Amino acid sequence: MMSWKTLDDMELAGRLVLTRVDINVPVENGEVTDATRIERIVPTVHDILAAGGSPVLLAHFGRPKGKVVPEMSLRPLVPALEKAFGHPVSFIERPTRGALESLPEGAIALIENTRFAPGEEKNDPEMAKFLASLGDVYCNDAFSAAHRAHASTEGVAHLLPSCAGRLMEAELKALEAALGAPKRPVLAVVGGAKVSTKLDLLANLISKVDMLVIGGGMANTFLAAQGLDVGKSLCEHDLAETAREIMAKAQDTGCEIYLPSDVVVAEEFRAHAPNTVVADTAVPSDCMILDAGPDSVERILGAIDRAETLIWNGPLGAFEIAPFDAATNAAAAHAAARTEAGELVSVAGGGDTVAALNKSGAAERFTYISTAGGAFLEWMEGKTLPGVAALEQG
Ligand code: ADP
Ligand code: MG
Repeated sequence: MMSWKTLDDMELAGRLVLTRVDINVPVENGEVTDATRIERIVPTVHDILAAGGSPVLLAHFGRPKGKVVPEMSLRPLVPALEKAFGHPVSFIERPTRGALESLPEGAIALIENTRFAPGEEKNDPEMAKFLASLGDVYCNDAFSAAHRAHASTEGVAHLLPSCAGRLMEAELKALEAALGAPKRPVLAVVGGAKVSTKLDLLANLISKVDMLVIGGGMANTFLAAQGLDVGKSLCEHDLAETAREIMAKAQDTGCEIYLPSDVVVAEEFRAHAPNTVVADTAVPSDCMILDAGPDSVERILGAIDRAETLIWNGPLGAFEIAPFDAATNAAAAHAAARTEAGELVSVAGGGDTVAALNKSGAAERFTYISTAGGAFLEWMEGKTLPGVAALEQG
């Protein structure tokens, strides 16, 4: 079981609260074009202020690789932060304890890009010590950076009283409910482009979940591994043996695997390309599989009906191009409806998965949508996230 402190457990009044956040937002011509990541840290900043603390924000931006790269300064983010917080933000290029202490009480400070310092990504103990000297309490609200053991995500957590911020807390609770101590049966839906990027994920899931739907391009590799002709489909033929091993292991662990029984095929990867539904055994050699067919969708909806918990990464088809988003949309709508009815805990994450679920309109009705990307995937793979582990010890 997880044991980390939250802001409620900490003494914050009159203290400098070093707060690691992820504000690596898209910026075009000096303007933030999507402030989602900034909006998600507002509760943490507000709660620190409400408790009488002074948030000192630590964050990275881009990949400056230990050098000062002026284009990767956090300074241009100040207006967007002030707007989201409804509170002035003091930008601090070269932080010192003295500079932070001389700010008015209840001020919010933003420290320059942590990755400008060579010690950050090396998790240099000297850098961690320096960061710790800047605050009295450490709060990590950057789950999405927790898979990296950096000075500002891991090292510093061992040197100060540490806790999870509100976003980190929400993320960890949702993940615990999905895979840590879930209500069973648990259904995992794994789709997307390739098996090769999700081998660790599949290996971990078949040992933990009761049902596993394999969809998207990666299902083609599994179909081909069973001797079926997948035509021009995206397929990793060299992973046929691996796919067979995964199927065999699933049988051992009692994890029921769902592969497509019918598929939607087209001659080209293009929106509204002429398409037909065929059995998985009858894919024409000049066609590619772009979505799961209606019979497969029925079986997936049935699995969702039987599940108490759903964890989802990877779209079931080429969701970017209509109508090959149909299976993804149908499964998303069904999961959303059961979630709304209080019958299902549904958690989803992954860059394209979040885009697909947003596009389907079902995302808001899921229990939790993780925007953490790599950290979410590593967690689903069963790996220890150093940034979270450091909080558990502190
Ligand atoms: P995530 O970012 O959520 O982890 P992935 O990057 O693994 O998801 O997969 C998303 C991609 O998989 C999308 O670009 C989608 O078009 C592609 N995809 C899904 N099904 C197919 C298919 N049958 N053929 C080709 N590409 C597919
Ligand atoms: Mg992706």
